[in-house]
Amino acid sequence: MNSNKRQHFKKLLMAELRRHAQQIDDEQASALEITNDDVKDSDHALHDVIQGLALKLSDNESQMVADIDQALMRMEEGSYGMCLRCGREIDERRLEVVPTARYDAECQALVEAAKGQTAGPSL
Ligand SMILES: [Zn+2]
Repeated sequence: MNSNKRQHFKKLLMAELRRHAQQIDDEQASALEITNDDVKDSDHALHDVIQGLALKLSDNESQMVADIDQALMRMEEGSYGMCLRCGREIDERRLEVVPTARYDAECQALVEAAKGQTAGPSL
């Protein structure tokens, strides 16, 4: 995945993050606004903001924020967009819909079957 694509998906993840932050307070949201103005591939300040945010959210919301955090960390490591199970690149159309996706569609189905879940991937 080239850096333009990566920036695109980072923006999607940041937009999702701000959506969660706005449910808490404007201060958190503006903290994210500041870090987003200075988009870098490595940003530990951002990680701290996300951790603080996750603490204030409900379990379900906090899990979604943790997924975003992990996706951003994979972006820093350079493994973003690759399936954690088989290592193949995840279809970009899938990442557009689920930018936090850890697996390609095939492995996602296998992982969910193993968990005994019948529901589709959560957004
Ligand atoms: Zn896979």
